[in-house]
Amino acid sequence: MSAIFDDASLQSKLEERLIRYAGVWTTSDKRCEDTPTTAGQWDLARLLEKELRALGLQDIELTEHCYLIARLPSTVKESAHAAALPVIGFLSHLDTSAEVSGKDVHPIVERNYDGRIIELADGVTLDPAEDAELAAQKGRALIHTDGGTLLGADDKAGIAEIVSAAEYFSAHPEIEHPALEFIFSPDEETGKGLPCFPQHKIHARYCYTLDGGGAPEIEAECFNAYSVDVYFSGKVIHPGAARGVLVNAALMAATFAAMLPRSESPEATDGYYGYYCLMELSGNQESAHAELIVRDFSREGMERRLGAIEAFARAVEAEFPGGTARVEAKLSYINMKEKIDGEPAVLEKLFAAGSALGLELKLKPIRGGTDGARLSELGIPTPNIWTGGRRFHSKTEWVSLDDMVLAVKLVVELAHLWVPQALSALDDGVRSQTA
Ligand SMILES: [Zn+2]
Repeated sequence: MSAIFDDASLQSKLEERLIRYAGVWTTSDKRCEDTPTTAGQWDLARLLEKELRALGLQDIELTEHCYLIARLPSTVKESAHAAALPVIGFLSHLDTSAEVSGKDVHPIVERNYDGRIIELADGVTLDPAEDAELAAQKGRALIHTDGGTLLGADDKAGIAEIVSAAEYFSAHPEIEHPALEFIFSPDEETGKGLPCFPQHKIHARYCYTLDGGGAPEIEAECFNAYSVDVYFSGKVIHPGAARGVLVNAALMAATFAAMLPRSESPEATDGYYGYYCLMELSGNQESAHAELIVRDFSREGMERRLGAIEAFARAVEAEFPGGTARVEAKLSYINMKEKIDGEPAVLEKLFAAGSALGLELKLKPIRGGTDGARLSELGIPTPNIWTGGRRFHSKTEWVSLDDMVLAVKLVVELAHLWVPQALSALDDGVRSQTA
């Protein structure tokens, strides 16, 4: 039994949902020590809890740290089969980035974008000549900001897609799928959500985040990430009597910073190239501190980079006799690829769902972290699916409604394909087409 959609009504539901969710102020705050870091995330979680209940979902839980978990039982007819199937999860995050204001968001809908330059507030423009993906939206439907705030499609487009998929499943019990778990998490942007992840409550063995860019891009690989602190200490004396005695820690830190290869900085790299990024340099003659983040897709590459930082520190000591440089490296997250590769079905089903919709999915590396990386680390392999949003964390953020429709269809198809008979039926279909 394959799913059938009314695209126009699905699109208008997605539009209505995204605009309503964007109206809730859920900007997170990394200076706050609680999870969630802001009260607005509770408002959105409670709104979603009510909405999912009204859509017919019964098993819903809101945890003490603002994780909203809603479950749908399996619809597989043979109960022996149903029990053997893994629970499949779908996750989006409630908060929005603090880099740009997310308060009083006024989304603007273009139901049939004519390809013009879109003028927003304060001279901000969306120019298709500078944004090829925007140019490709001509004749399609999109939602953008009014130029004063971000849109919050990261990740409210993902939430709208998951809720719309849940609504579809609830209204179509004839579509066979395993037990499903829909998870809405707080504080993805601040990194303060996942440490409170309620793993003991989660049934999902495999999960998919909806937190990516444009269709048909998916992500199953991210950086290995370290944060590195280098502490320099010098020897201070009055400058008048300093000859041969003064060891200037501020200069040591500057010398160290100059050793970081400029060709391996974030501004000089993309694709699969990693980088060293100096985040902050501070200090005086007595002591100084360099704060860096280091990123690399491979473990060997990361070891080489950490080794290089250690070597730069020793080289600085050699140049400043009597001074010391101490390196402290801390793991932030690891590349989720290893865990996902260990469970090939997770991506196989995703690609099969794409093919069933006539889409050739494209794997793209994430040059950043994701909830999926942390979940994969916890033993729940979690690739990332597009939301349709672009230019995240900016006043020029926009989202393609067509991509949002595709995301819902993909989720429905994907859940269905976790039922083994569904996959073999699809194979038979492909075989009879090619025969
Ligand atoms: Zn996001």
